[in-house]
Amino acid sequence: MNPRVVIIGAGVVGSALADELTERGWTDVTVVDQGPLFTPGGSSSHAPGLVFQTNPSKTMTELAAYTVAKLSALTLDGQWCFRQVGGLEVATTEARWHDLHRKHGLATSWGVEGSLLSSAECAALHPLLDPAKILGGFHVPTDGLAKAVRAVEAQARRAIGRGARFLGEHTVTGVGRHDGRVTGVETDQGFIPADVVVCAAGFWGPGIGEMVGLTIPLLPLAHQYAKTGPVPAMAGVNDLVLEASRPILRHQDQDLYYREHGDRLGIGYYGHRPMPASSFGTAPMPSVLPFTPDDFAPAWRESVALLPGLASTEVEEGMNGIFSFTADGFPLIGEHRELAGFWVAEAVWVTHSAGVARALAQWLVDGQPAIDLHEADLHRFEQVQLAPAYVEERASQNFIEVYDIVHPLQPMERPRPLRTSPFHPRQVSLGAVFLEGGGWERPHWYTSNPPAPVPERDDWSARYWSPIAATEARITRERVAMFDMTPLKRLEVSGPGALAFLQRLTTNNLDKSVGSVTYTLMLGFDGGIRSDLTVARLGPQVFQVGANGPLDEDWMRQHAPDSVHIRDITGGTCCIGLWGPLARHVLQPLTRTDFSNDALKYFRAQRAFIGEVPVTAMRLSYVGELGWEIYTSAELGLRLWDTLWVAGLEHGIAAAGRSAFNSLRLEKGYRAWGTDMTTEHDPVSAGLEFAVRMDKGDFIGRSSLAARTSDRRLTCLTLDDPAAIVLGKEPVYAAGAPVGYVTSASYGYTIGRTVAYAWLPVGLSVPGTPVAVEYFGARLPATVAAEPLFDPKMERIRR
Ligand SMILES: Cc1cc2nc3c(=O)[nH]c(=O)nc-3n(C[C@H](O)[C@H](O)[C@H](O)COP(=O)(O)OP(=O)(O)OC[C@H]3O[C@@H](n4cnc5c(N)ncnc54)[C@H](O)[C@@H]3O)c2cc1C
Repeated sequence: MNPRVVIIGAGVVGSALADELTERGWTDVTVVDQGPLFTPGGSSSHAPGLVFQTNPSKTMTELAAYTVAKLSALTLDGQWCFRQVGGLEVATTEARWHDLHRKHGLATSWGVEGSLLSSAECAALHPLLDPAKILGGFHVPTDGLAKAVRAVEAQARRAIGRGARFLGEHTVTGVGRHDGRVTGVETDQGFIPADVVVCAAGFWGPGIGEMVGLTIPLLPLAHQYAKTGPVPAMAGVNDLVLEASRPILRHQDQDLYYREHGDRLGIGYYGHRPMPASSFGTAPMPSVLPFTPDDFAPAWRESVALLPGLASTEVEEGMNGIFSFTADGFPLIGEHRELAGFWVAEAVWVTHSAGVARALAQWLVDGQPAIDLHEADLHRFEQVQLAPAYVEERASQNFIEVYDIVHPLQPMERPRPLRTSPFHPRQVSLGAVFLEGGGWERPHWYTSNPPAPVPERDDWSARYWSPIAATEARITRERVAMFDMTPLKRLEVSGPGALAFLQRLTTNNLDKSVGSVTYTLMLGFDGGIRSDLTVARLGPQVFQVGANGPLDEDWMRQHAPDSVHIRDITGGTCCIGLWGPLARHVLQPLTRTDFSNDALKYFRAQRAFIGEVPVTAMRLSYVGELGWEIYTSAELGLRLWDTLWVAGLEHGIAAAGRSAFNSLRLEKGYRAWGTDMTTEHDPVSAGLEFAVRMDKGDFIGRSSLAARTSDRRLTCLTLDDPAAIVLGKEPVYAAGAPVGYVTSASYGYTIGRTVAYAWLPVGLSVPGTPVAVEYFGARLPATVAAEPLFDPKMERIRR
């Protein structure tokens, strides 16, 4: 028997989900909505439905591409649900025009076809444009307009045809539960039993979450959308049935977008102040608040400047429509951990609606989505990121930046600092330049170190970078450096069942002596890589796990039996990576414990005292040099830092930041989960089969591995020109055609050129193969290289 499903919300997400679930055979689906069907009054009921697919995130682009493909094939009583009028983003500034080249690259990386057009070509596509005002545009012919209300009804009808029920004017007032599982939803019309409840309630989501004690970290914000009166220059262009024929348009330099409504133009505006909606509108359209014309005044001025034909008309109607924003711009998808069967699909745009619905349907029916959803996972946030004040600040900032040119390393400015390591005061006095990740302040370089002569950079790649990183990398290779590794998530896994649990959860053999450290992978049931971990056995029943983030803890907790305790020890502890050929010279005089090569071998851990400080030292190195990760409790962190620092001065020690770290790790070929590999990749194709012990007994994902084949490989490239730079996500070309994309990239200061990892077809993943990486429109010659590029015999680490 398939489970009984209740979906809260008959918006574009709820309806798409009902369709996707019933298509997979889960036909006992009830969709309830407080409003009348199929215009119940949520955001989907008035969304203008522009779908621009290209996004810096591969996942988001793929979610959008599926929405386009699905809705394009749908009609409602012969009327279109999606019109592929194309999408055109125009540039009125040099910075934007430059950035559209990057965007074209992103589209190519993720498989969306588009092209850069001259201003005249843009005006030919959209004659309202004044070509003199623009420098050019990025055109994606498959973008277009979703007719959200029709898409809701068309998908609902398909679902109903397979047995689903849609109940309008049913307000959910509570969620039934028993023994940690949902039992159904309470509505003002009675109780509806269910085994699975999905909250697709749009910006009402946090209120539904409160019913079950779940924080749904989104902020409802109002956003302005207005319609002009008839535009003479548009007369006769579109009939009322087709509504639109010219591309949807974005003028991001002024936070504006446009679509046609017959002979009128719809104008959306993100340039106004963020307007968090503390109360909502009234029926029949509670998602709409009264229009505030003053906020729209700059939008109109700029619109007339770009589209002069608007001068002969005016704004006839407008609204402040409410929809959801999150702290990082991604949706929220996943299951409540304290209430089994309660799922969330929130903060989803029309653009991604069908894609999200499909992924969630796969998750529910097959146990896992087919594409990597880690960026959108409900459980991706640290606790501090769930604070209402944090969500409000960051979501508002996301609203402000929605059309900005945002550098991949650009940190949010507020609220900061949130999480600081115990070394923070010393880092500040050494002139650390901090970026932020997971709420942590992370030094990227220290201005107390001098810059080194390295190739000049273009403006984009020079942002959030300094030639000081070259010095810090060189000091690590030649002398010794201290890296703050505190922000990396640390979990203590202990208890009588700890070993068996970790053995089942990960791929490598952890049944080794106390003091062993093991690099291992967590796989999904389908054999895809969920994470990579470093597991230190500190006692027969005590393991310290170096993890990638909250999703690892979440996955572990999902599978942990009662005999296992999992504790996040990140905030209570700290870590210095002491690395470099002189690391032993610094450390050994500070301790009576023998840190010689024979006494503490590579991938072994040891408790010791460094001066007065009790530590756990693990002989590991992500930078490819001799050294240790040295852990202690947070209150002793400063003492540890000072002890190592003072002892290191005679050896020329320096503090080094993430910028150098990233360069050093890529020279060594160390992968970063989430960037280089995700759940979409298997260990063999990611080059990590050495971490899989098929002979150790069963583990999650093992049985799927044999059947997994991949025609792609994570491949090491170097750029041929020693001065060329790429940063990641760029498309890779072979013989003039796009063949893959870059994951991580950094200048390798030791090898003297840029290192880039890329997913490429197996046939091209052969050292010596010439390829090209496209960076802002320029094809930079590159060559597939044997890896690792630095110290392949591991002589520097094992000495
Ligand atoms: C002005 C404006 C312009 C936009 N433009 C675009 C655009 O161009 N492109 C794009 O991709 N996106 C756009 N969006 C965003 C998009 O409209 C939304 O993200 C999307 O429609 C959300 O769909 P949903 O199904 O999650 O939520 P909704 O459509 O809001 O549906 C949620 C439903 O849940 C129901 N519900 C809530 N609480 C309860 C309860 N207790 N009991 C029963 N039912 C309940 C509500 O009645 C509602 O119908 C725009 C939004 C606005 C406001």
